[in-house]
Amino acid sequence: MKVCKFGGTSVASAEQIMKVAGIISSDRSRRIVVVSAPGKRYPEDRKVTDMLIRLADAALDNKDTEPLLAEVVGRFSLIAEGLGIGGEFVSTVEEDLRSRLAADRPHAGRFMDLMKAAGEDNNARLIAAYLNQIGIEAVYKSPKEAGLIVEGPAGDGMADTESYVRLSKLKEETRVIVFPGFFGYTKDGVLCTFGRGGSDITGAILAASTGADMYENFTDVDGVFAANPNVVDNPALIGKMTYREMRELAYNGFTVLHDESLMPAFNHSVPVNIKNTNNPAAPGTLIVKERECKTQPVIGIAADSGFSTLYVDKYLMNREMGFGRRLLGILEDEQISFEHTPTGIDNMSVIIRNKFLTPEKEERILKRCFDELKVDDAHISSDYSMIVLVGETMRYSKGLAARAAMALAGSGTNIEMINQGSSEVSIVFGVKKEDEKKALRAVYNEFFVPAHAHTF
Ligand code: ASP
Repeated sequence: MKVCKFGGTSVASAEQIMKVAGIISSDRSRRIVVVSAPGKRYPEDRKVTDMLIRLADAALDNKDTEPLLAEVVGRFSLIAEGLGIGGEFVSTVEEDLRSRLAADRPHAGRFMDLMKAAGEDNNARLIAAYLNQIGIEAVYKSPKEAGLIVEGPAGDGMADTESYVRLSKLKEETRVIVFPGFFGYTKDGVLCTFGRGGSDITGAILAASTGADMYENFTDVDGVFAANPNVVDNPALIGKMTYREMRELAYNGFTVLHDESLMPAFNHSVPVNIKNTNNPAAPGTLIVKERECKTQPVIGIAADSGFSTLYVDKYLMNREMGFGRRLLGILEDEQISFEHTPTGIDNMSVIIRNKFLTPEKEERILKRCFDELKVDDAHISSDYSMIVLVGETMRYSKGLAARAAMALAGSGTNIEMINQGSSEVSIVFGVKKEDEKKALRAVYNEFFVPAHAHTF
């Protein structure tokens, strides 16, 4: 039995949904189908989820919601029309949106979640209706009815462990289940979404709880590429990789999969296959627990911008017990999580994602460094990028960091920081943002284009 998840571009239009139906009917083991909200049809298009966020914002600001509501309804109406689904469906979408807008709003975040989830919820109903219309027996399943309980802050929920037991019952259903991705309900029955891109998580949870043989994640590319195809020309397609490798790449900038979504599949050993809705015959990328990897120590290279460095310097820092703890404590007080902490004898840097910083937070942090930690110098510099080499067998291979450093030097990139994680699944090079693209190309060529490789 397979659980399939179709991302936003796979369900963005009537034509795409017809392809989805073809994929489902070509393999009857595809029994549970998780769907995203309609995504972009072309690069400048707007995702339904983004439209819904604007709609919710307008409602929260007491602005006119009618044009934004009409935009969402219009998008569903176009798809329904293309699929030959009657106008009543469009009226139910409109009614659904109006009732969400009219709901009590004791908490802005929860209201936002309720609105955001409308994209997946209505799309799942639409796709179930279409499958039935073309003779594939299908049923829409609500996360509430199925028992997907989500805990945590609005917009960033996590499924509770008991959900897995309740959701395992889904495998008893004989019809194709169409399940909206991205959200569940708290124990008190309040809707809560996962983070953006969270339909991947729903798919992985259903695959894990039903003990599926495979979790197929359909997107709009043939699989996972070894580097960003917008930067590197024709990067290699990764045939097979481990969960840990995929998580490292996703966390560090690969957008093909939500970085947390693999955990449920990993915990229950369900293999994941990333496939292309527009080219379903291609084998895609398989993600498994272990792989044989004798020849290719680096499986992929991620590059991501948007990092800052907090640098502190204090003479005789090496003698001061607890300095690092107190510095990280200041960040914890500001609810900032950190990425790396390279240290010297008398100095320490903390690499932070820019999204956690605001000018006010920066000011408070620096003030506390001077006032409480009595540092000689403290400053925050932004505009860093991280180039991350990922591969399970890097730990057995000699000279990889040297080769990457040579490649970076050859491209004229200054290395600001190096961090080899203790897991040795990744080696991170911090570079200036303006060098990111050339650095990525240079490191990619070093490891994937034999003519460029250095030997030691
Ligand atoms: N529609 C949601 C988003 O755009 C969730 C998803 O597509 O996975 O983030």
